[in-house]
Amino acid sequence: MQYCKRCRSACEDYEHRCPNCKSNKLRRVLEEDYVYLQRADLYTAGRLEGLLRENGIDCQVEPYGKGRPSPLYDSEVMPTDKELYVPFKDLPAARGLSAALYQELEADRAPEEEFEDMPRRKRIVVQAVSAIGFILLVVLAVFAADAAANGLKSLLGLG
Ligand SMILES: [Zn+2]
Repeated sequence: MQYCKRCRSACEDYEHRCPNCKSNKLRRVLEEDYVYLQRADLYTAGRLEGLLRENGIDCQVEPYGKGRPSPLYDSEVMPTDKELYVPFKDLPAARGLSAALYQELEADRAPEEEFEDMPRRKRIVVQAVSAIGFILLVVLAVFAADAAANGLKSLLGLG
């Protein structure tokens, strides 16, 4: 494996140029070299950093694009995004932990969506109950008006 000093990524030996940044300043990768792991949003980067440290993997967290403004056309990229770098020797383990964390975050998100469904179902029930209530009210009003009319007629001796 070769190491690109410019963008700090590892690439295959047969590459003469870095596939990421096209730099030709490549050298053999060392176990201690910090190589690019991934970009993550602020929250995920924090979680991932903690997880890596728990597992004895050191990591460097840097602002995405070294603080340069992110491309405006890319809505996936937030200005607060971070880039994570881990020692080359820990890269496979770090990727495994990252995948596990993303699965966990995905699982955390799923129940929230179910909770969002609950009020919607409740609203439908409430709407149905109030519609029935309204109809009953109208029926009662008609009966009451009828009864009142009849009462009035008999009071006046017209019944
Ligand atoms: Zn590069």
